[in-house]
Amino acid sequence: MKYLQLAETFEELSKTTSRLEKTTILANFIKKIKEESEETIEETVLLLQGRVFPEWDSQTVGMAAKLALKAISRATGHGESEVEKVFKKHGDIGNTVEELVKRKRQQTLFSSDLTLKDVFQTLQKLASLEGMKSQDVKMSELSKLLTSAKPIEAKFIIRTVLEDLRVGIAGGTMRDAITYAFFTDTVIYDKENNAIIHEGQFSKEEIQQLMEKVKRAFDLTADYAKVITHLQKGKSLDEFKLTAGSPCKVMLARKERTFTDAFARTGFPARLEYKYDGFRMQIHKKGKEIKLFTRRLEDVTKQFPDVEKAILKHVTVDECIIDGEAVGYDPKTGKYQPFQHISKRIRRKYDIEALAKELPVEVNIFDVLYDGNKVIIDEELPHRLLALEKIIPKDIPRSIVKAKGILVEKEEDAQSFYEESLAAGNEGVMIKDMKGLYEPGGRVSAWIKMKPIMDELDLVITEAEWGNGKRSAWMTSFTLAVQDEDGNILEIGKVGTGLKEIAEDEETVTFARLTELLKPLIIGEDGKNVRVQPEIILMIAYEEIQKSPTYSSGFALRFPRVLNIRNDKSIDDIATMDDIYDLYEGQ
Ligand code: AMP
Repeated sequence: MKYLQLAETFEELSKTTSRLEKTTILANFIKKIKEESEETIEETVLLLQGRVFPEWDSQTVGMAAKLALKAISRATGHGESEVEKVFKKHGDIGNTVEELVKRKRQQTLFSSDLTLKDVFQTLQKLASLEGMKSQDVKMSELSKLLTSAKPIEAKFIIRTVLEDLRVGIAGGTMRDAITYAFFTDTVIYDKENNAIIHEGQFSKEEIQQLMEKVKRAFDLTADYAKVITHLQKGKSLDEFKLTAGSPCKVMLARKERTFTDAFARTGFPARLEYKYDGFRMQIHKKGKEIKLFTRRLEDVTKQFPDVEKAILKHVTVDECIIDGEAVGYDPKTGKYQPFQHISKRIRRKYDIEALAKELPVEVNIFDVLYDGNKVIIDEELPHRLLALEKIIPKDIPRSIVKAKGILVEKEEDAQSFYEESLAAGNEGVMIKDMKGLYEPGGRVSAWIKMKPIMDELDLVITEAEWGNGKRSAWMTSFTLAVQDEDGNILEIGKVGTGLKEIAEDEETVTFARLTELLKPLIIGEDGKNVRVQPEIILMIAYEEIQKSPTYSSGFALRFPRVLNIRNDKSIDDIATMDDIYDLYEGQ
């Protein structure tokens, strides 16, 4: 497949804000890739999401805007100052390269035929280049690619490199588009009525049901490419199965403010569990092979050899998929430590064994998805807990244990367990519906979280500002954003207070540390202000949510303060507009 086809699809997508029109454009593009090989489908689906690696792979192209501008200069033959000038005019690198390549083309009349594979492979290669000279090599590889690109291709290559595609495809759009692509003969967008018109054997209602099944298939595989190749082979959507070794989306929890509200959702009896303050770990065992995934499905097996050993030693079944929370504790006192103390274990690539001794974790298992005989996500909670008793018959404190929980019959019984959980150093409690199933990817009422600090949100940094005077080496103010259901990132406030300038330890969130994290992510500059790839997620405390015309979300946070950096979470985990409406109403 030609890369041009994808670039033109991106261009079309970026020209509309209608979710239904985007769905139609994407559906027709997916119809075209249906005949391609499995490998091409994988590559195309990643590129469609603006990626060259799956979400759970922590590799990135890792190229800053400055270097990309140099590559543009070399590829188009325009001096760096000219490139800077055009960049200043557009404020966007994609449009900059498009204009400069266009100008060059008029002189040389050169046309190429970049394939999707050419682009994909070069971008993956950029990511693999590490070391002293890598920046130069990266720059020259990228400029070679741009030299053979048409203007519109260059625009989306650069945007992919900088992880800033700006075409707005949300997860739901992808799901709907796949459904239309496979289950209709034709699909068109009716602009006048903002509606989708489709023809084929399935009715509107049947298409809706198929969309739910496509969603389920995605939640079980966490990979749209797998869903597409499955359908391409003519297999039924009901055939999707969880298998030990490949991750599925984790089940998520809703937030409630009071026990009354929580129990109104779950009913009685309900299960109360400690809400541990660590990070999610989805554990797969297949004989001697163990795989550990974070909540964003990043494979962290290598970083946790201690957990791997504990599973091999204490889990009684040959195969299983279990779900839990890894919590750090102080090796001297045995006391639990808050998340930020162990967050560095997720990223650490060297001295892993030593770090495991210094910052040990205990895994608290609370659910079973596959018990070795059967996938049991569609069984109610008591059945899954029984399976857990068999899988981990004996708790091994400070290594691997079953999450502590009790059954409550009435609201009055909840308070003392809640206080006990907090006193033990946990974040709060989880309230679980006994009739609840395990719903991968679902944020449903079967799980409710309750914590005393209700007023905190996970938000992504979209912009930052360099400081003044003695703080001019650091970024000192950070713009924060939420996400709406279409995947648009909307700003909700700025934070700068609550941060130290520098600190000795690796945990404290400082201006220096945030600056270091954000610098490689810069994609645009305007005076002291920089725009960054939306990757760094902060946990923010605040006093109140107010309506505000200042930010694109229509809301602002009063007195926001940084609690910590959530490197275990991805953009999909940040607060949504729905959360904001709920919190605003509930104030
Ligand atoms: P939050 O991160 O605030 O959305 O809270 C939900 C998270 O709490 C889950 O994703 C888990 O990582 C974590 N958690 C801690 N203890 C439990 C538990 N007993 N059951 C389920 N999730 C838990």
